[in-house]
Amino acid sequence: MENKTSTPPDFSIVIPVYNEEENIPELYKRLTAVMETLGTYEIIMVDDGSRDRSWELIKELHHKDPRIKGISFSRNFGHHMAITAGLDHVNGSIIIMMDADLQDSPEEIPRLYQKFKEGYDIVYGIRKVRRDPFLKRLTSAIFWWFLGRFSGVDMPAGQTMLRVLSRRVVTVLREMREYARFIHGMIAWTGFNATTMDVQHNPRYKGRSKYNIPRLFKLAFHAVTSFSIVPLRLATYMGLISSIVSFLAGLYFIYKKIFFNIPILGYASIIVSIFFVGGIQLLVLGIFGEYLGRTYQEVQRRPLYIVKEFLLENDKRT
Ligand code: UDP
Ligand code: MG
Repeated sequence: MENKTSTPPDFSIVIPVYNEEENIPELYKRLTAVMETLGTYEIIMVDDGSRDRSWELIKELHHKDPRIKGISFSRNFGHHMAITAGLDHVNGSIIIMMDADLQDSPEEIPRLYQKFKEGYDIVYGIRKVRRDPFLKRLTSAIFWWFLGRFSGVDMPAGQTMLRVLSRRVVTVLREMREYARFIHGMIAWTGFNATTMDVQHNPRYKGRSKYNIPRLFKLAFHAVTSFSIVPLRLATYMGLISSIVSFLAGLYFIYKKIFFNIPILGYASIIVSIFFVGGIQLLVLGIFGEYLGRTYQEVQRRPLYIVKEFLLENDKRT
């Protein structure tokens, strides 16, 4: 596609969309109303293999308003891949990320932008009060605790997807082509000057959350294994501890046998220790397997996502 002498917009908003037909019209209305007050902008909606009318709606919006751009995947690749594709095609100098379900209010963007103008590269929206069902809040709390503890990257907890990024952050993100993506961690990892701001969090406008517990687990594994190799060291630590313990136990039994002639009792103790050691070995093997599988996926170097259709007029790239 030719670039028709268009100058890049001030803002690019990246929105992943997966079966959000009920939210797109309202999102468009509220987001454009806010963005009008801020400057020139483009909105890149990435349709992550929706099975509803989301892509048709995005197409309609694009024909009516060319500032709405669309990328549609050949199938569902996941939330973080959809964001990746959006970031790969932004033209603006300030990048805003948000979800399509209006859990973050577009009306918060001007406040985040004010903060950004103070000279930050990253302004995270933080939800002080989560407006999600109980189970979701619980699993998410465990998720963030786990990450804080094991991922080795300093990420503010309670982030929503709503955030403002400078162009140079996005340039770095574009260079990170790993398959296991955890965008929150990747952004923090860039190390640019970041701050947080509390934002209001809403229940989903319409529809249901696309994250279930297995998906959340997968994300948590990705998140930890892509930023830390601490779990691999677990094997060393556990091996060390169990050798010390068994050595001491051995000394104790020998001592009892020699000085008191007390035989070592114990079918139960043998069974328990076999299972204990077996359990640890399996756990460690599992962790190894996790990293091996990750490495395998990374060396395959498949494309991160496959695009079926672009609606990106005025864009230098095709
Ligand atoms: N999403 C996506 N691909 C997926 C799952 C979700 O693009 O496979 C989008 C979804 O349309 C929404 C955002 O990612 O815009 C966040 O999803 P959701 O609201 O279901 O997650 P939650 O807020 O419950 O964590
Ligand atoms: Mg949501």
